[in-house]
Amino acid sequence: MNWITNYVRPKIRALVNRSDIPDNLWEKCPACGQMIFHRELEASLRVCPSCGHHMRIAAKRRLELLFDDGSYSLIELPETIVDPLRFRDRERYSERLRRSRSATGHQDALMVAHGTIGGEKAVVAAFNFSFMGGSMGIAVGEGLLAAAKLAVAQEAALIAVPASGGARMQEGILSLMQMPRTTIAVDMVKEKGLPYVVLLTDPTTGGVTASFAMLGDIHIAEPGSVIGFAGARVIEETIRETLPEGFQRAEYLLEHGMVDMVVPRTELAETLGRILRLLARRHPEAEVVPLRPGGEEKKAEAPAPAASAKGEARAPKPAEAAAEGSGEGTGKAEAEQDAKAKPKTAAPAKGEAERGPAE
Ligand SMILES: [Zn+2]
Repeated sequence: MNWITNYVRPKIRALVNRSDIPDNLWEKCPACGQMIFHRELEASLRVCPSCGHHMRIAAKRRLELLFDDGSYSLIELPETIVDPLRFRDRERYSERLRRSRSATGHQDALMVAHGTIGGEKAVVAAFNFSFMGGSMGIAVGEGLLAAAKLAVAQEAALIAVPASGGARMQEGILSLMQMPRTTIAVDMVKEKGLPYVVLLTDPTTGGVTASFAMLGDIHIAEPGSVIGFAGARVIEETIRETLPEGFQRAEYLLEHGMVDMVVPRTELAETLGRILRLLARRHPEAEVVPLRPGGEEKKAEAPAPAASAKGEARAPKPAEAAAEGSGEGTGKAEAEQDAKAKPKTAAPAKGEAERGPAE
């Protein structure tokens, strides 16, 4: 019997099942109906080659696309309480969670990673829409807070990539509390003067839109993404009016000032890198040319922002220098330069003079 179970049965199974062939070799574009071969779709970053429709992509793929050379380090997100309300609708929330976890291989709907984008340090918090519609519960709120703390610790930019239906209703009020929490998380990053960029993807709706997703220094959106608070149908029923064409789409929001730019997926990483480099540049790039060879050191120091803070301590120095200069200055050119230099140094020198008699 042994050889039948060990040898014959697997052989027959292999003949009958042939389970190694995936059943979804072709995917239908939801916009134009075109059937696209899976390899072609993967090569085009899940953008339809015939109509340009941007299909949803998993958080993991998103991170690969954004970070330089597709390399990044994931961070472990804090453990949170599971099913605090012991919620149950058609099935238990804990059961739903378990199923989503085994289907996606993720703990919850958020992934946080750090690395570089366009050479700049960045922390990316990306949503996984396939995990319960990317809904924001305690775990997601906690994850965004962890991402913000990491960005502050690393002095890196924070980039949020929402793809979410909103708050996770199975966690009730606790999920709504994540709105102020994520807002505070964003504030932590902004207080440190670090860039916070939101990359709005399809769909960004509900409580996510009403909190951290609309607080970016810069809002980038993928073409055709649905971005809004309440759904179009709900709004239509409430106001009893027909909504305009393309309502709540990225292009419509760009036209109305809610979004700064709409960028195709293929150009996202490059655009993001450029923005981060621009935002991170704290000093002017132009070279500061000294007025005369002797004054090189002083002039080079002057434009640095640190100089204004230390201005008082340094004040006597320029004053002395100006006095020396006028003593030596016999040439006309030098006298002119002194005249230019004096207005700058005059203020601190005068301050010293005024203080002198008072003391
Ligand atoms: Zn298409």
